[in-house]
Amino acid sequence: MTEGSRVAVITGGTRGIGLAIARRLANDGFDLVLSYRGDKEVAEAAGQELSSTGRKVHVLASDVADADSAGSLIEHTVNEFGKIDALINNAGITRDTLIMRMSEEDWDTVLTTNLKGAFLCSKAAIRPMLRQRSGRIVNMTSVVGLVGNAGQANYAAAKAGLVGLTKSTAKEVGSRGITVNAIAPGFIETRLTDVLSDEIKETLLKTVPLGRFGTPEDVSGAVAFLLSPDAAYITGHVLTIDGGLFMA
Ligand code: NDP
Repeated sequence: MTEGSRVAVITGGTRGIGLAIARRLANDGFDLVLSYRGDKEVAEAAGQELSSTGRKVHVLASDVADADSAGSLIEHTVNEFGKIDALINNAGITRDTLIMRMSEEDWDTVLTTNLKGAFLCSKAAIRPMLRQRSGRIVNMTSVVGLVGNAGQANYAAAKAGLVGLTKSTAKEVGSRGITVNAIAPGFIETRLTDVLSDEIKETLLKTVPLGRFGTPEDVSGAVAFLLSPDAAYITGHVLTIDGGLFMA
């Protein structure tokens, strides 16, 4: 265990928004445990890059949707690092199609990864956090979970479910010094938005008051804030990072 350093688990921390969060937290002095599902090459590259920061970084293939894997991820963290200060439930997938064409499998896969995965990892992490009487959990939802989106009924339902999970968990564990918050990004430049045509991008951009897509760094800065002492009195909150796309 690295004396004095904080320890964060980031599910899906090997690319996209998760990797940006990992870079930021490494820079802020966290030791890291990153999980991924199957892209070993990308995961190893991320692990190598982050290890060069001097932080202790473990990268594990671990499916958040599987209870044993989720449990092992947290167990590994506590065994190897002695504690878990933060859990970022970031792993997420899409299987977009209109509801009339959506298979049961498309529904189940998205709900199981995006929603049940966060439940399983939170459940495993809360036990050591309760013992420590401290901890931070951040759930990665989406503005789509707040406003809905045609072609994403499964994803929107999972992300809306994460908001309920966030608020309920926050109420359960608040008295033990654990905060639970959610971040709802809008359009962020990752593989997800790379595939959109210029025409669609232009149409989407017209709906964003700040006039640009977000970057993974726009999201990672907010995660760093929620893990910082400045956010000690914030729990059960859903923070939108969307350039003003959705205003409640
Ligand atoms: P990416 O597709 O770039 O990365 C997803 C990461 O999650 C990868 O590391 C992937 O591993 C991992 N992952 C996927 N399924 C599992 C699983 N079952 N178990 C463990 N790890 C898994 O996603 P983004 O960075 O774009 O998105 C990150 C989060 O932010 C998601 O929850 C997404 O819904 C949310 N979000 C993204 C937005 C965007 O515009 N990009 C907008 C709003 C929310 P592997 O590489 O092995 O597949």
